[in-house]
Amino acid sequence: MEDGILEIKIQMNGMSGRVNRNLIYPNHMASMLGSSVVILTGAGISAESGVSTFRDNDGLWEEHRIEDVATPHAWESNPELVWHFYQTRRRQLLEVKPNPAHYALSKLEDGVKEFTLITQNVDDLHERGGSSNVIHMHGRLRTLRCEVSKKYEERMEEEDLQNDFLFCTCCAEPNRVRPDIVWFGEMPMHLEEIYEAIERCDYFMVIGSSGHVYPAAGLVNVAHSCGAKTILVNFEPPANAFAFDEIHLGKAGEILPDLVNSWLE
Ligand SMILES: [Zn+2]
Repeated sequence: MEDGILEIKIQMNGMSGRVNRNLIYPNHMASMLGSSVVILTGAGISAESGVSTFRDNDGLWEEHRIEDVATPHAWESNPELVWHFYQTRRRQLLEVKPNPAHYALSKLEDGVKEFTLITQNVDDLHERGGSSNVIHMHGRLRTLRCEVSKKYEERMEEEDLQNDFLFCTCCAEPNRVRPDIVWFGEMPMHLEEIYEAIERCDYFMVIGSSGHVYPAAGLVNVAHSCGAKTILVNFEPPANAFAFDEIHLGKAGEILPDLVNSWLE
């Protein structure tokens, strides 16, 4: 295959246009050895492991809109429904496995000087794939958060995965716990740490992200303005494809292992 130019049609806010981006094949790429690398992963990498994502089922869950079961208001007005939704997702973790993209990122982590993996995903597939420095900006399914102390604890035993409400172990009088998830309308977690990592990285790579969810979708602009090379690995050009220096289109599980090998040469 030869290097080439990828022409991307962009439609946003009623406007449309075209941009050209470099399409670079693995044997023509620079090495990341000795570099500082920051990765942002989105739903696409989990979807390849069979994790159901917000975009499945037309954004519906048992005829409720996802937005209506993933907000602080939903938790106040119908906690049983929200709890059932998240317990279903927590049980699903036991049925899914990391895919070759998760393992490839763990290999990349071992091969570069500095590595930070930021994920929008709430599953544990990066950790199970061997990654150690993972920042979950939208929270985690494995942990639950005390409504009073705000402390989180890992609760994944069989008795923690039923549909009954659970109570914390941190308070003298146990309080109800909520999903340790960033809901619509809440602030993403660890933003300071995320910006710090991006500001000092040499490479910023987005994998499997639709480019619709801010502030995650805007991080590439931060990386670009701080001088990092920006790379996208995605099944299709996302909404913010114009923000990348280099684009690799395909399933992450299929193309990332070879890309990582070439970056570590
Ligand atoms: Zn507590």
